[in-house]
Amino acid sequence: MSVSIKSEHEIELMREAGHLLEKVHNELAAHIRPGISTKELDRIGEEMIRSLGCTPNFLNYNGFPGSFCISLNDEVVHGIPSTKKIIQEGDLVKIDAGLIYKGYHSDAARTYAVGEVSAEARQLMEVTKQSFFEGIKFAKAGNHLNDISKAIGAYAAKYNYGIVRDLVGHGIGTHLHEDPQIPNFPQKRRGIKLMPGMTLAIEPMINIGRADVAWEDDDWTVVTMDGSLSAHYENTVLITDGEPEILTLTK
Ligand code: MG
Repeated sequence: MSVSIKSEHEIELMREAGHLLEKVHNELAAHIRPGISTKELDRIGEEMIRSLGCTPNFLNYNGFPGSFCISLNDEVVHGIPSTKKIIQEGDLVKIDAGLIYKGYHSDAARTYAVGEVSAEARQLMEVTKQSFFEGIKFAKAGNHLNDISKAIGAYAAKYNYGIVRDLVGHGIGTHLHEDPQIPNFPQKRRGIKLMPGMTLAIEPMINIGRADVAWEDDDWTVVTMDGSLSAHYENTVLITDGEPEILTLTK
C-alpha cells in the first residue's frame, strides 16, 4: 500500500477541484424534480463539469457509461443514468459525482429527498450525513484510519441501520481511487497513521435494513438485498495538523 502525501501545490489543485465539484453538486441539485430522467440529470451535470474546464472522472471509469452515478431508493451506489429512470415524488436520489481538474480528482456524493418522504427516509438521510461528520472528528494527523471507521460505524449502529461493508471510501489524488481503503465500520487493526497532506474520500453508505447488497444485471448498480432504502454521503477531505478541511463542502 502506498498512501500519497500531497505537496502544497497539489493541495491547492485538490482544493480547487473540490470547490468546483461542490459548485456542480449545488447547481445540479436544482434540477432534481419529478419527471426528469436520471440520464437528463447526467447530461446537465456533464455539461456543467465541462464548462468549468474539468473532465468527469466517472465517465468510462472501468467502462462506466455515465458521468454521474445516480441511484434511486434501494439502489445504494453506481446507478447508471438512464432515460428509463424517471424521478418520482417521494424518491431518495443519490448523486455521486467526480471531476478532474488539472490532473487532480475530487469525489463527493449527496442524497436528496424529492418532495415529501417518510420520516424513516428522512432519518436515514440525516444519520448517514451525520455519520460522515462523526467520522471526520477523528480525521486528524496522529490518529489512525480506524478511528474514522469506528466513529462512522458506531454512530450508524445506534440506529440499527445496515452499514454497507462491500463498498468503502478511499484515498484520492491523481487517481480516483488510491490507498488506503476506508471502511465505514470498525476494523481489527488500527490502520495507517493519518498525516497532513493525505486526501481521503470518506463515504458512508447506509441501509435502513440489512447491510447486504447485490449487483444488478448491468454489473454496476448496487442494490440492497432486502429492498430497503439506502443513503450515501461523501466528501473529499484533507488531513491537516489541525481540523480536517472538507474540500468539497465550503458552505
Ligand atoms: Mg468515492
